[in-house]
Amino acid sequence: MSPAGSAAPSAPGRTVRSAALFERAARSTPGGVNSPVRAFNSVGGTPRFISSASGYTLTDADGNEYVDLVSSWGPMILGHAHPAVVEAVQRAASTGLSFGAPTEGEIALAEEIIARVAPVEQVRLVNSGTEATMSAVRLARGFTGRAKIVKFAGCYHGHVDALLADAGSGVATLGLPTSPGVTGAQAGDTLVLPYNDVDAVRAAFAAHPGEIAAVITEAAAGNMGAVAPLPGFNAALREITAADGALLIMDEVMTGFRVSRAGWYGLDPVAGDLYTFGKVMSGGLPAAAFGGRADVMARLAPVGPVYQAGTLSGNPVAVAAGLATLRHATDDVYAALDANAHRLGELFDGALTDAGVAHHVQYAGNLVSVVFSDAPVTNYVEAKAAQTYRFAPFFHALLERGVYPPPSAFEAWFVSAALDDAAFARIADALPAAARAAAQAEEQA
Ligand code: PLP
Repeated sequence: MSPAGSAAPSAPGRTVRSAALFERAARSTPGGVNSPVRAFNSVGGTPRFISSASGYTLTDADGNEYVDLVSSWGPMILGHAHPAVVEAVQRAASTGLSFGAPTEGEIALAEEIIARVAPVEQVRLVNSGTEATMSAVRLARGFTGRAKIVKFAGCYHGHVDALLADAGSGVATLGLPTSPGVTGAQAGDTLVLPYNDVDAVRAAFAAHPGEIAAVITEAAAGNMGAVAPLPGFNAALREITAADGALLIMDEVMTGFRVSRAGWYGLDPVAGDLYTFGKVMSGGLPAAAFGGRADVMARLAPVGPVYQAGTLSGNPVAVAAGLATLRHATDDVYAALDANAHRLGELFDGALTDAGVAHHVQYAGNLVSVVFSDAPVTNYVEAKAAQTYRFAPFFHALLERGVYPPPSAFEAWFVSAALDDAAFARIADALPAAARAAAQAEEQA
């Protein structure tokens, strides 16, 4: 689905307007951005200020066009400004922006989520993935009466104080060793374990029997590049938590409704007690959710004592965008996402092999990333040990040729179903130079 007029976009070059906007933004906003990775810190250069998007095309303030391989960090599976989603948003907006009272749309969105993900019996809508994981952790502690939380190094669950330890992606990119502002008390109940290491999980439970409220894991990791759980890892988490009376929180903010109709659960049906969702279910507006077992969700206010609330939770316009997106996310859309991810991965492979660059293309469902290392990456230590210095030149060579990659070696690449042959032709044209740039990169002392 190529947007009208984008058949022969000019090669991006000018960044005069973006540079001026970045300078202006930095005067009113720390670093000039409202989420750190957007500042291009780990790749350098001028972040592109986006003026519009349609289908797979992003257009920046200088009029340059890019094939978008970020998809707003996941939500835009149908492509940008999908007519049905825009129409649903316009219709909802015309009948009121926010009521602070329940609406039928919220029921429909909750029902859609429940229908897709079998272990989810009840859902509470919130505004961001961070809020979803924060609330799920509080609920797990309230339900079990226990304090400790297990998380995995390299998994990112939003900027929740207790979960900002070895958090991957944005934090990895900035190289923050810990998070200033998070107190010892907030982080002290968090046990950080290596991802994909069942023995470490067993040892943590042996050392703290009856003390761990929950294990939270990305259902498949996407914040240290795409790193799928090794076969049996999620099942082992299920078995170990159940044996100890702890809960298993599956964070599907990234994978949910993207890697299949039912998210990662659709590919690897290990039931969590609680789930967190965001991104795709919001259609690109601020909405997210947590949900799970009805007996656990029943501990939540107003039926139970665990408090959780939100002025804009279940916002009617965000709900309309999410519902329209999910209703148009058909089997054909999922088949296209899978095919596009593999087509992209094969192009990476071909170009990097031709340029003689050691690399490994990683998949977690249709999340894809390229690691500059011979061996597959299975955890955060391995992700950090790759030749990440090759990423910035690879990134910039693509950007200059009209392809918009994620601006960090530690992020997954997000395809949309809107990518077509013209988009892939453009990616294929850009990749040989990018692979050569990666090959020529030298590690800084
Ligand atoms: N959980 C995961 C797995 C994520 O990838 C993210 C964000 O990328 C979050 C939680 C936080 O979501 P949000 O950025 O909407 O707060």
